Amino acid sequence: MAAQTRSLLNKYNLRPKKRFGQNFLVDERIIQGILAAARLSPEDTVVEIGPGLGGLTVQLVQRAGRVLAVEVDGALIPPLKEQLASYPGFRLLQQDILKLDLDGAVAEAFGPITQPYKVVANLPYYITTPILMRLLEEKYQINIMLLMMQKEVGERIKAAPGTKDYGALSVAVQYYTVPELVLRVPPSSFKPAPEVESVVMRLTKREVPAVVTKDEKLFFQVVRASFGQRRKTLANGLASFFTSLPKDQIICLLEKINIDPGIRGEQLGLADFAGIADALYELLNAEGLRESR
Ligand code: SAM
Repeated sequence: MAAQTRSLLNKYNLRPKKRFGQNFLVDERIIQGILAAARLSPEDTVVEIGPGLGGLTVQLVQRAGRVLAVEVDGALIPPLKEQLASYPGFRLLQQDILKLDLDGAVAEAFGPITQPYKVVANLPYYITTPILMRLLEEKYQINIMLLMMQKEVGERIKAAPGTKDYGALSVAVQYYTVPELVLRVPPSSFKPAPEVESVVMRLTKREVPAVVTKDEKLFFQVVRASFGQRRKTLANGLASFFTSLPKDQIICLLEKINIDPGIRGEQLGLADFAGIADALYELLNAEGLRESR
């Protein structure tokens, strides 16, 4: 694999670009691990983000019926076409994944979406979190994501309340998906080797979010406010975000739902955030303040 990567780089006179987070996967064992965890079948539609030189892509098209690859770097299009053009189920889009309507792109490539698709990616690490948030928040018709990312981000995604890695990213990912660690990946599995350890995570989309709230936007505002300033108490964090409410009213609200206003936001689980959001929803409605948020 490493030899093939080298020969493609030479043939097309390319150098891995740091600014696009290009660390090509050259470890066949890891590729097989990703494919196994994706449980692919010919009925599957897969979106690959950042196909790079196509090491993973070739194996994806051999297992899934349809693969749409989205690559931002125009210089990689010729080597990708050379290796993949002969597969009838393969489509290639030169685009920034952060600017793309993914459901729209899948529908344009393969026709109306009749069943959820999978996302597989060795992510460019400089934009892991924005890509992840976009894949979740846009509510695309995805059911499973197999994502290679920096180990630390994987740890944050899976973190439990009260631990040092727990934060707004943990809440968002756990709200929409069930995250699992699939593989640990050393720097030597890539060319060039990154400076960090990596992991492959499988995120299985939940049919319904982990907690039900009256107003999802308000739920995420509560999460952001609670983690906003880590050293602040929960009551202070909420008060500095929801400025239309006096702090004593916020304290009273928290006490009513049995949450200590003096704790830190990072102690709270998803159900606690949902409880606060729903209580706030009632209060803001009662005060006629919800529109002014
Ligand atoms: N999949 C290949 C592999 O495993 O060898 C390459 C993975 S490399 C870590 C990340 C890939 O994402 C690169 O091909 C890079 O050009 C591409 N990329 C970077 N930013 C992107 C963006 N905004 N949209 C789409 N692709 C992007």
